[in-house]
Amino acid sequence: MPLSDVTLDHALAALATGHPGPGLPVRIAAPDLRPWVDGNVVRGAWSFDAPVPGPHVAVVALNHGNEISGAILLDRWLRAGLRPVAGRLSLIFANLDAYAGFAPEDPTASRFLEQDFNRVWDRDLLDGAGRSSELRRARVLRPLLESADVVLDLHSMLWPSDPLLLVGSQAAEGMALRLGAPPLVVSDPGHEAGRRLIDHIGQLGRHGVLLEAGSHWERETVALTETVALRMLVLNGLLPGAVPTAASCLARVTSTITARHADFRFARPFRGGDVVAVAGTLVAVDGELEIRTPHDDCLLVMPSLRTAPGLTAVRFAKFMD
Ligand SMILES: [Zn+2]
Repeated sequence: MPLSDVTLDHALAALATGHPGPGLPVRIAAPDLRPWVDGNVVRGAWSFDAPVPGPHVAVVALNHGNEISGAILLDRWLRAGLRPVAGRLSLIFANLDAYAGFAPEDPTASRFLEQDFNRVWDRDLLDGAGRSSELRRARVLRPLLESADVVLDLHSMLWPSDPLLLVGSQAAEGMALRLGAPPLVVSDPGHEAGRRLIDHIGQLGRHGVLLEAGSHWERETVALTETVALRMLVLNGLLPGAVPTAASCLARVTSTITARHADFRFARPFRGGDVVAVAGTLVAVDGELEIRTPHDDCLLVMPSLRTAPGLTAVRFAKFMD
């Protein structure tokens, strides 16, 4: 599902101006979540039990407050009265407080309030004395999320990239591959900047799968989000039907490049999903350090064309047979 050239142009123009946000068009409407804020478990979280036992699947939207495609989907499902035929379905709006600040004029600003919600899932942090809007929210949602057998975490992307599924544990690889959409599954140990929700779920021996469904504010991103989330419910028996078999491929991250200098620059505007054929190809320069591909046929996972010291700039991955 390639992004349009318009999106790429906007991203590159934004790169040139030094602010990635306002250049990108917002082509989808942020839903009114007021009917769902109270929840029926805790604030912003809805849970429905089927009469027949089965796994507990939690679908999480708004882990990042500006990634609204998942919220559009959960709003649609709640309005439609979607219920599982077996097991338990939880629909969770994670960072509601950040989402409250979403503004199409500056749509990147509402990713989080005080810290990245998807970097706080470390037991020491969760159990510790630290305080932030995101830590408070994570502590509220933690019991519900920890009771899930499967967590599907719905995200979207700023920089041009093919959609993909990210998993942090081997157990989740098989499940992600069986979804069949998007066709690329990337097994990725995570970020230096902190642990993700899927890492925490994986550590509990459950299945954590993160969907990066495409560009943040495009209609096709919402469509893919729905396809993947429905397949996850079918795959786990919460909805009737069968998941179509499709050819997926697995790539494992071989190295994660964390920027060290403010002048980190890519050699060219790579897009996520690019495969660099030859080992040793220059990809970026970080201060004095040249970043080169570590092996042939190196998959570039979500290059962040504008990054900052301490943040993940790109991941290199190798295709598995
Ligand atoms: Zn995200």
